[in-house]
Amino acid sequence: MSDHGSQPAKPEQPSSPEKPARNLDAYRAHYAERTAGMTASEIRALFAVASRPEVVSLAGGMPNLAALPLDSLAAEVARLISVDGQVALQYGSAHGVPELREQICDVMALEGISAHPDDVMVTAGSQMALDMVTRIFCDPGDVILAEGPSYVGALGSFAAYQAEVVHVAMDDDGLQPDALRQAIANVNAQGKRIKFLYTIPNFHNPGGITLALPRRAEILEICAQHGILVVEDNPYGLLGFDGQPHPALRSMDADNVVYLGSFSKTFASGLRVGWVLAPHAIREKLVLTAESATLCPPTLNQMIVSRYLSTHDWQGQIKIFQEQYRERRDAMLSALEQYMPPGCTWTRPDGGFFVWLTVPEGVDTKAMLPRAVTQRVAYVSGTGFYHDGFGSRQMRLSFCYPTPERIREGVRRLANTLTEEMEL
Ligand code: PMP
Repeated sequence: MSDHGSQPAKPEQPSSPEKPARNLDAYRAHYAERTAGMTASEIRALFAVASRPEVVSLAGGMPNLAALPLDSLAAEVARLISVDGQVALQYGSAHGVPELREQICDVMALEGISAHPDDVMVTAGSQMALDMVTRIFCDPGDVILAEGPSYVGALGSFAAYQAEVVHVAMDDDGLQPDALRQAIANVNAQGKRIKFLYTIPNFHNPGGITLALPRRAEILEICAQHGILVVEDNPYGLLGFDGQPHPALRSMDADNVVYLGSFSKTFASGLRVGWVLAPHAIREKLVLTAESATLCPPTLNQMIVSRYLSTHDWQGQIKIFQEQYRERRDAMLSALEQYMPPGCTWTRPDGGFFVWLTVPEGVDTKAMLPRAVTQRVAYVSGTGFYHDGFGSRQMRLSFCYPTPERIREGVRRLANTLTEEMEL
């Protein structure tokens, strides 16, 4: 890789007004090789454009926090600082605040998980857990199996540690067991090492699909048979629109599943409080990793979450979120039904934030995006959710943030853009 040799950086060519220098980063020859896989996510690039008020953004996955009881939360935070400020504003342990870890066990019990607080470690969002799990397991070239498409932030972490992603196909019932068996056989035949299966079983980001219950045991069995660890990423599990939460994979296999959870979607994403539940030895390695990364997760934020859970009706609040997101999901599905041109298909999520739309052959969703933004609607092109450039006929549509009216208008604009594109 010529960009990463050991020579000191030199300007590549003299810059002139007509021809700007090709690479303005004077340090480019000095970065570690692993930075080669680090690219800005398409979502970040989109953010500035999509946040203009005239654009309906179906792009970002920002939770809708309007329904949070801000006044009583503010009073609780003020009380926390005046009564317990010397603890709340102090360093803590990398493992996390003990009371919160106990409460996290109660949260996970809703999905059938029985866990000991010692095996829970609090993280700065589940993104940090993803990063650390990859860090402790993956050497460059190791393989991670992941649904195709998969969460863009996970792909970013995997790339940062130079792990190779092998996508496994999904259908309407989620990850396909036969495709998983085949992927394992292919990787083994190439003599590569599989480090774990990364899966989002509930209300998939970006797929909007849920792993069917009978498949859960089968997927776990396949992985156990082949000695493959399962990393279950479940930030949306409590945001189902119909009935009880699905049993977590971790509730069915305590020995071979690392479970990632988060308060980002059920409470407040800006507090950056998530967690990882792992078999004891793995949890121990994670705590050591967290110590070197951040010393400890933010004590104040952990205590805010803990006080919120003990003083507020957090389960009632989750019901309010579910109702809001259900209404928005309905608005999106009915608008898609009404406006989308023939040849488009989409998933029908039972929870979470996302619909995955497939457009007719010949349309490239990445190339179309600037034209969609001109028509004042934004989405995320499907290619960001695969490591290999696949997904150009797909896009992710989020229904979490805009109001139902804005969602309908956004889908109408998107359908117009698509129709024009198909006529080009
Ligand atoms: N996993 C998935 C599937 C997600 O969608 C997200 C957030 N978009 C995360 C992990 C990270 O969540 P956080 O770090 O806010 O807990």
